[in-house]
Amino acid sequence: MATFLNGYLVEYLQVVTVFTLGGMLGVFVYLQWTRSEKEPLTERLTRRNLQEDLRASEERLNLVIEGTNDGIWDWDISTGKVFWSERANLLASNNSLGFGDSWDIIKKRLVVEDREKLEAALRGHLVGDVPFHIEVRLAMLDGKPRHLLLRGKAKRASDGKPSRMAGSVSDVTQRKSVEQELIYNAYHDSLTGVGNRKLFTDRLKHNIDRTIRRRDYLFSLLVLDVDNFKMINDTYGHSIGDKVLREIAMRIEDRCHSFEDRMVARIGGDVFGVLIGNVAKIEDIKSLVLRIEQDLSAPFVVENFKMSVSATIGIVFNGEKQESSEEMLSNADTVLQEAKRTPFDGRSRARVFDSPMRKKAQELYRLEQELRLAVENQDFFLVYQPIVNIQKGNRVVGFEALVRWNKDQGTEVQPCDFIPMAEDTGLILPMGKWILETACRQAKAWVDAGFHDVTVAVNFSARQFLNQDLANQVRCVLEETQLNPRNLKVEITESTAMREIERTIETLHSLTNMGLQISIDDFGTGYSNLSYLKHYPINTLKIDRSFVKDIPDDQEDMAITRTIISMANNLHLKIIAEGVETEAQLDFLRQEGCEQVQGYYFSRPLSRENATQYLKDYSSDAA
Ligand code: C2E
Ligand code: MG
Ligand code: MG
Repeated sequence: MATFLNGYLVEYLQVVTVFTLGGMLGVFVYLQWTRSEKEPLTERLTRRNLQEDLRASEERLNLVIEGTNDGIWDWDISTGKVFWSERANLLASNNSLGFGDSWDIIKKRLVVEDREKLEAALRGHLVGDVPFHIEVRLAMLDGKPRHLLLRGKAKRASDGKPSRMAGSVSDVTQRKSVEQELIYNAYHDSLTGVGNRKLFTDRLKHNIDRTIRRRDYLFSLLVLDVDNFKMINDTYGHSIGDKVLREIAMRIEDRCHSFEDRMVARIGGDVFGVLIGNVAKIEDIKSLVLRIEQDLSAPFVVENFKMSVSATIGIVFNGEKQESSEEMLSNADTVLQEAKRTPFDGRSRARVFDSPMRKKAQELYRLEQELRLAVENQDFFLVYQPIVNIQKGNRVVGFEALVRWNKDQGTEVQPCDFIPMAEDTGLILPMGKWILETACRQAKAWVDAGFHDVTVAVNFSARQFLNQDLANQVRCVLEETQLNPRNLKVEITESTAMREIERTIETLHSLTNMGLQISIDDFGTGYSNLSYLKHYPINTLKIDRSFVKDIPDDQEDMAITRTIISMANNLHLKIIAEGVETEAQLDFLRQEGCEQVQGYYFSRPLSRENATQYLKDYSSDAA
């Protein structure tokens, strides 16, 4: 705060000084001119007054010059002579000489890059009337430059030509170092001292920009994930973990040193990023990566503990098509995850993002963008596939609501082509809410139309199920749509049910307590056993299509299906067989005591209108 206030005060004094100096010069020139004339008495008296005024002003000026921390300069453009005040000369730090009586000394003493900058700024002001306000660095003996702020204004004749220029010079080294420290902290990782994610992405964007100007420009992005770092933290504690991270950062930096255009940053807890610009050939990066791996494998000794680390590295080069920084980072992450999955062959854990992967990633990236937009615009619709009771005259008992994406206003995209992406990106949450609302509204419409017992089953994905708020969300939707919970079924796949078991069971209990029914979808594919599922508050098992498909040819599938049906009957669970396409399948299932089926044999998923018609034709309520 003090620095800022001081800054303002100095600025104020400088303005005062520049204007006082300007005024003084004006009066001085005027007096020189009047002195040469023959004057009458009254004018001589005026002159005396003026001389007194001048003396007073001179005193004031000296006071200002001495009182301010800044140096003052005054340049007579016609002679080239520059007057530097005592303070200004002190800033030069070579007392005997100061800045002399021209611009020469200061120009010579500036760090090389700033010399032209000063000349250009002076020229800009005199010729183009650009404000003169410039920071330059004065080379000092101790190697640390002094930052000077030069400001000034030219005095111009009526034709606009400058005759002199005056201004101030101040030492802003301290402010500069505070500024630099602030900038440094904003862009660096305080633990390791290397760049942070912000600096890294800035530099990445900078490199991407360069590819626009230079088509042959090659750069490489490495993302390095320390393997099992959590174990180091857990075993030795966080303070040792921090030291290990510092040591890792140092080793990576040391290894990259031979590359002129490089940037090392810590971009996540135990994730480092390396950017190498101006890559001559791909092999250089490959050997750099090998060396980094070797460097890291050398044992670390931290506080007498000896340990070793390894890292997995994802490598990306800029491709032919320009990509955004987010895309490149996500590509690096893709290849990194891929490398983590690949069994370690003892040589390298690094992997390069190659062109087939790039193509795939580009497609996925495009799909993600499109899907985001679709979620915003709610470009989805639901279809309803009838579920039929085959023990009671093939009456329809309900529907499974299945989502479709109406892409580009006409193409119908199937869920297998976008649900996985929606799950990965979390888009399934807003999408799932829309699906639930729409299905409940439809179910309510059918109930109101007289089909009191109809059930609508809605699929919930794992991601939705892990959402703490799911039960609440369902309660709200039921309230909003006024649907009786007994008309709603929730389908979760067997594998979802087996994830985060305790939390899932808890959510399922909240749902059944509300009066909802729960189905386990795709049963038989998740390798769980029925005795386990006993702990779940479920009503229905849906036998996966893969077991039904080869009935009556595949004896094994038939045996499995038979077992599932009889066990479910013993546990008082309802059974729905999925994917029933033929009469033979239907006969077998009916014989084995399966109550309900769903499949093309009866109907494909139907539009809202066709489903309503189906209800009218085949429901027991309608009969
Ligand atoms: P699922 O829940 O097992 O849904 C049954 C799938 O089997 C549906 O495919 C349905 O059209 C298909 N099917 C039904 N009968 C037959 C048949 O006789 N023969 C064949 N070959 N297929 C049949 P769909 O609609 O493509 O859905 C596929 C999967 O996508 C669903 O499997 C479900 O896991 C997921 N899904 C669909 N809609 C949603 C949704 O709204 N939310 C979530 N989270 N997932 C959904
Ligand atoms: Mg389902
Ligand atoms: Mg299923």
